[in-house]
Amino acid sequence: YSTEVWQTMDAAHHIHAFVDQKKLNAEGPRVIVKGEGMYLWDSEGKRYLDGMSGLWCTQLGYGRRDLIEAASRQMEQLSYYNMFFHTTHPAVVELSELLFSLLPGRYSHVVYTNSGSESNEVLIRTVRRFWQVVGKPSKRIMIGRWNGYHGSTLAATAMGGMKFMHEMGGMLPDIAHIDEPYWYAHGGDMTPEEFGLRCARQLEEKILELGSDNVAGFVAEPFQGAGGMIFPPESYWPEIQRICRKYDVLLCADEVIGGFGRCGEWFAHQHFGFEPDTVSIAKGLTSGYVPMGGLVLSRRMAEALVEQGGVFAHGLTYSGHPVAAAVAIANLKALRDEQIVERVKTDTGPYLQRCLRELFSDHPLVGEIQGTGMVAALQLADDKATRKRFEKEDEISWRCRTLGFEEGVIIRSTLGRMIMAPALVASHAEIDELLDKTRRAMDRTAQSLGR
Ligand code: PLP
Repeated sequence: YSTEVWQTMDAAHHIHAFVDQKKLNAEGPRVIVKGEGMYLWDSEGKRYLDGMSGLWCTQLGYGRRDLIEAASRQMEQLSYYNMFFHTTHPAVVELSELLFSLLPGRYSHVVYTNSGSESNEVLIRTVRRFWQVVGKPSKRIMIGRWNGYHGSTLAATAMGGMKFMHEMGGMLPDIAHIDEPYWYAHGGDMTPEEFGLRCARQLEEKILELGSDNVAGFVAEPFQGAGGMIFPPESYWPEIQRICRKYDVLLCADEVIGGFGRCGEWFAHQHFGFEPDTVSIAKGLTSGYVPMGGLVLSRRMAEALVEQGGVFAHGLTYSGHPVAAAVAIANLKALRDEQIVERVKTDTGPYLQRCLRELFSDHPLVGEIQGTGMVAALQLADDKATRKRFEKEDEISWRCRTLGFEEGVIIRSTLGRMIMAPALVASHAEIDELLDKTRRAMDRTAQSLGR
């Protein structure tokens, strides 16, 4: 088919995520037909450097033979089976052994899912179940953060803090929110560290307002992804952990983006130095080659659920799917054996962060650069001195993203921040290309604004 035919058929059948459908149909989506390493190609033969790892998920890039062969071998051996009928299978068992060899020792059990949204749905039910089992059934409320993102299913959306998403499908009971630790936008005259403490202490105020006997858990992304790649001040996480411990509120890390090496540690909570009770995973678990996610549980929680919990009333047809498990094993072995996570910590991550600051610190549109390892954000600013944001920041960042496509690079725009999160296998030369093309897109955006 020609590009136009693909686009016409697409418009006839698809509702796309998070875009104006009419506008999209009028412009026609790019048709992505091939991926290899760090690159994607569209149906017109144009090549793009993928600066977003798909959707923060292709840690190893595209087209790895070892992952493809692992899937194919597993399909030949056992294409499907489940964990319902007092049954298990080697692929899922081997995966869990490997997963827990990479996680800190305080975790022991996992409930597999097919996506990050499902991992967070399971989170809510499991956390509430845990409190029932240990004799505190009134602990039901989950506290999330405004602008946090935990997925698009009903409860994950409610626990997330995207108000425009709440409008579609409505809110749920027993969910509450506190502010995001977004110093650049909301920090006023406070230092980042003062602001970090203030945001964390909102959690204490919220727990006291709701009653600690009613609060089950606090859920947050270690760094906030879809809400703008926002890195909290250093004072934030230690204070959050102190408050959760004080009131016996479970600390739940959503590591759907942060997990599997993104920050140069296997898990982002290790980078930020806190110890969550649960870890939601997906995306990088399989490098996005097949869908798989999971909810990782601390020994404390698992022990209660296994020893006292009786029947765990939850199950998905595809939990621990053998093909997904086989791909995850190949993916984790590659990340481990090729020292990819270590390289992000000691080599490619610092290189990306250094070059980014060299190239963008003096850029007329950039007010702040945040990031670590293979993830970064450029904050757009109308006036750097006063941290004034553009009134039409959404429109400006969208324009920059579109110019990026024209330049042959995929970066993401969210709420006035330009985001990048390349595959963890990016070489120095590919990082240079990512930044050069991003700089050209940013320069053209600045020119369009007369700067
Ligand atoms: N949690 C976080 C932090 C995410 O960024 C996402 C997706 O981007 C999700 C959950 C939802 O994952 P999925 O799209 O696999 O359902």
